[in-house]
Amino acid sequence: MEKYDIIIIGSGPAGLTSGIYAGRQGTKTLMIDKGPAGGLGLEVPMMENYPGYEIIAGMSLIKEMKKQALKTTPLKEMEEILSVQPNEDNFLIKSNKGEYLSKSIILCTGNQHRKLGVKGEDKFLGRGVCYCATCDGPLFAGKKVFMIGGGNTAVQEAIFLKNIGCDVTLVHRRDELRADKYLQKKLETLNIGIIWDTVVEEIKGEISLETIVLKNVKTSQENEVEAQGIFISVGDIPINKLAKELGVNLDQSGYIITDKFQKTNIPRVYAAGDITGGYKQWVIACSEGAVAAMAAYDDLEKIY
Ligand code: NAP
Repeated sequence: MEKYDIIIIGSGPAGLTSGIYAGRQGTKTLMIDKGPAGGLGLEVPMMENYPGYEIIAGMSLIKEMKKQALKTTPLKEMEEILSVQPNEDNFLIKSNKGEYLSKSIILCTGNQHRKLGVKGEDKFLGRGVCYCATCDGPLFAGKKVFMIGGGNTAVQEAIFLKNIGCDVTLVHRRDELRADKYLQKKLETLNIGIIWDTVVEEIKGEISLETIVLKNVKTSQENEVEAQGIFISVGDIPINKLAKELGVNLDQSGYIITDKFQKTNIPRVYAAGDITGGYKQWVIACSEGAVAAMAAYDDLEKIY
């Protein structure tokens, strides 16, 4: 069985940064991801607040970070970790492809998209219902689409859709957006329409999406409108299954609680990135990833 000092689970911005730091410290480290490296970072259309870049696409930054991490730390993609259990002085990690022993674990498992939970959402997934504008947006150029949500992701993705030629309207359940003022201003400049105080009641069609039923939450009035695409960006939920199994303490929303060294309540288990909740920002995920790798190294030094 392969043995490691550190296994990093998840290779989004936090995991890749942990990989960069852990490898340079000379520890025997492995990064594993159930998908391609990057996680939700791959979906960020354009970022304008990552220091050093006035503007960069998430996919481009992931490509650079992955290249840098791979210089010192191997990465296994498309391999899902099924369980992590304490095993004497190590952790036994079982995946769908193999088993590993590691002295420490850094959990960088991130988030997944929250669903609306309305009728038709699952039925039309991939046939009009989308959760990622960067991935699926180009298929809807010139078409009528709705973006659901009022946070930074929804607004950023609505701007992206408009810029690639979609006829996009934002639908928000309140009369005020949660997104940063800077993004709101851009929305206004681009003349993107907003339907306020409105939720989606149902997503309808025959083979693919044809209409969505909108309901004004103040008047209860319903309105069925034609749509070729609906992009859902109503926040995300933590991927905490492995943390739960390990007995890692979580907050009320299911995010991992860490101290300032990214240590969890379980010795030699660290967490970094969106899975720790708080401000979900690329630069913060990277910082936490670096801290986790450095703390793991320090703790390993104490063992030897
Ligand atoms: P978010 O900030 O949690 O916003 C989710 C939005 O969806 C909110 O406007 C919320 O409405 C709405 N919503 C939630 N449940 C809903 C439902 N069932 N039906 C209709 N609407 C619903 O999520 P996010 O925009 O994905 O952002 C996640 C995190 O990443 C945030 O911390 C954000 O700041 C960060 N982020 C940052 C950037 C950036 O800095 N450029 C870019 C993207 C994301 P209410 O407002 O009424 O609650």
